[in-house]
Amino acid sequence: MPQNLLDFDLPGLTAWFAELGEKPFRARQVFRWIHQAGVADFAHMTDIAKSLRETLQAQAVVQAPAIKFLHRSADGTRKWLFDVGVGNGIETVFIPEDDRGTLCVSSQVGCALECSFCSTGRQGFNRNLGVAEIIGQLWVAQHSLKTEANRTTGEIAERPVSNVVMMGMGEPLANFENVVTALGVMLDDHAYGLSRRRVTVSTSGLVPAMDRLAERCPVALAVSLHAPNDALRDRLVPINKKYPLAELMAACRRYLVHAPRDFITFEYVLLAGVNDQPVHARELVELARDVPCKFNLIPFNPFPDAGYEKPGGEAMRVFREILQDAGYVVTTRRTRGDDIDAACGQLAGQVADRSGRVIKRLHREAA
Ligand code: SF4
Repeated sequence: MPQNLLDFDLPGLTAWFAELGEKPFRARQVFRWIHQAGVADFAHMTDIAKSLRETLQAQAVVQAPAIKFLHRSADGTRKWLFDVGVGNGIETVFIPEDDRGTLCVSSQVGCALECSFCSTGRQGFNRNLGVAEIIGQLWVAQHSLKTEANRTTGEIAERPVSNVVMMGMGEPLANFENVVTALGVMLDDHAYGLSRRRVTVSTSGLVPAMDRLAERCPVALAVSLHAPNDALRDRLVPINKKYPLAELMAACRRYLVHAPRDFITFEYVLLAGVNDQPVHARELVELARDVPCKFNLIPFNPFPDAGYEKPGGEAMRVFREILQDAGYVVTTRRTRGDDIDAACGQLAGQVADRSGRVIKRLHREAA
């Protein structure tokens, strides 16, 4: 079985090259060819010695997950469905804006955390994605988008993906080692060179893993909050029973000591009549008082048999104003690309559930 070089960060590739008797600078050259130039064919790595190219051709590949489907929205949004084997698919979304291009990346096939409003949570859990499957999403997006001209300026961007959010399918911190290795590649100047401030991990609140992320690879952090008290959050985000809000808020404060940004982003999906009332907004104001933060309000994006409704415009306005009047910065997520952008896990591919629950296939276009 050839070694997939997308599985390595630079230290990993250097160690593998050492086993071949090759020097670290050779590993750096190949790493740059792969991630900066987007080259998968070793024959095209022209400044690499022929003998090494032949060795690599015999022993290695550069292989991202296969694209099963690519949807282009009129607003410039791109959505890929990647085939990750045995009937499973994951989604990746690129959202272009005037001053940035954001890629939303998946970390698992399905998710085991069972948030009650989440389409991925309803599908069950299959497996963690490998490093090559995580970084492969960025590799495909960056290098395919490089060939496309900007819609308004007509220019070809050198680095179309300027920001990455780990908010696709799965709980990133439940796939800790693979996610941290992939983050290392995103940040590496020999690869994508993204700043820590422009890479965001979104978690539902795995407290011990938040502390480990602060030590190993502090990037920007978003926390999927969705409720202002434990009773409601226990229902909506069941991991709250293990790590209740007081522990989560304390973990956020600890994280900020290491974080590249001086605030946490709290994601809050508004569910009509469930967590979108003024009393909930006022509870949130108190809950977050000691945590420098911003709120991102996300109107629920209904899916079949969800059991929840989208909030009304007036309820959203009142909710937002209560937070703003208390001094918080609040954004309300716009709908982009046919409702494809939502909270952690709201991207739904297709999952063969290995945890025994009903399999739901929610990806309309691929059906
Ligand atoms: S919201 Fe995130 S953590 Fe919760 S089930 Fe969905 S993907 Fe998992």
